[in-house]
Amino acid sequence: MKIAIFSTKYYEKEYLNKHNPKGLHELTFFDVALNSQTANLASGFDAVCVQLTDILDAATIDLLSQYQIKLIDLRSAGFDNVDVKAAAKNNIKVFRVPAYSPQAIAEHAVALILTLDRKTHKAYNRVRENNFSLQNLMGFNLYGKTVGVVGTGKIGSAFCNIMLGFGCTVLAHDIVESKVLITKGVAYTSLDKLFQTSDIISIHCPLTPNTRHLFDKKAFEKMKKGVMLINTSRGALIKTADAIDALKNGMIGYLGIDVYEGEEKIFFRDLSSTIVPDDLIERLMSFNNVLITPHQAFFTKEALDEIARITLLNFTDFENGTASENEIR
Ligand code: NAD
Repeated sequence: MKIAIFSTKYYEKEYLNKHNPKGLHELTFFDVALNSQTANLASGFDAVCVQLTDILDAATIDLLSQYQIKLIDLRSAGFDNVDVKAAAKNNIKVFRVPAYSPQAIAEHAVALILTLDRKTHKAYNRVRENNFSLQNLMGFNLYGKTVGVVGTGKIGSAFCNIMLGFGCTVLAHDIVESKVLITKGVAYTSLDKLFQTSDIISIHCPLTPNTRHLFDKKAFEKMKKGVMLINTSRGALIKTADAIDALKNGMIGYLGIDVYEGEEKIFFRDLSSTIVPDDLIERLMSFNNVLITPHQAFFTKEALDEIARITLLNFTDFENGTASENEIR
């Protein structure tokens, strides 16, 4: 198939080409994002391959249909940027990569916890300036602490397993309980109980109308004073303005986020020579107990390799008419 790959990042080509060794599919890489203004680039191709930053609304999909595009293949699990109904109406199939490396994201959540706790980022900078003092570097043991996990799907489960390994008491809340995790010692509880008893809370549920701003002022008031809150899931699960107030009055003691409400205008760009167009993230960055990473939890060699493998498999399955669990129906 002839495939137009949009929003190609420099690190992706190597992996996508690796999984297309015999040139079974003709891959053309575009740096630009796909949207109604750039859809004409898809002319002459059979399929488009996109990321979360591409905008496939009804207008774009209408244009893709005019260009005879038959497949939209996402290189991501999330598909909230694709108007799936408009695609179905135009007889365009939509495939995605539902799971690639839950460990990559779970391990990054742990990296945020350990950095905030043991302050290795501060020590790194300090020692480079020949300051070897221990002032303000004191942390706490993870062993014996209570960790609350909201959402125990693929990533939440991987995270629970790591925290059990640290010797933590792991509490969980999910609309579906995992028998495997219960056998391993994870205790499911209500969200309120989890809030009241956890020293660390890590968010691994999806963003839905029900979970939007689940972590707001009311939720923070139920938590242990000084709680550590970690979000590697989606930015809008946390109401940022409320989190800032909770940081100001010490209700949140540590905040580690890999995702941010409004990250679309900021992340994946070098804004070092401009003014960042978002006052809330600037305020967040002013706290020395806040750690922000730019949506990099997925960014491991293993995850990129698996995303590329499944993406190419999706092209082939579509071409051969093979039924696939990766198709969004
Ligand atoms: P998953 O579907 O395997 O698990 C999600 C879990 O959340 C499920 O068990 C589901 O029952 C549960 N859930 C749904 N609604 C809930 C609610 N109201 N309260 C509690 N639990 C609820 O998904 P996953 O692969 O584990 O991914 C989790 C999230 O991680 C994704 O939604 C995505 O937003 C995020 N993610 C982030 C990155 C990153 O790089 N930072 C990468 C991939 C995924």
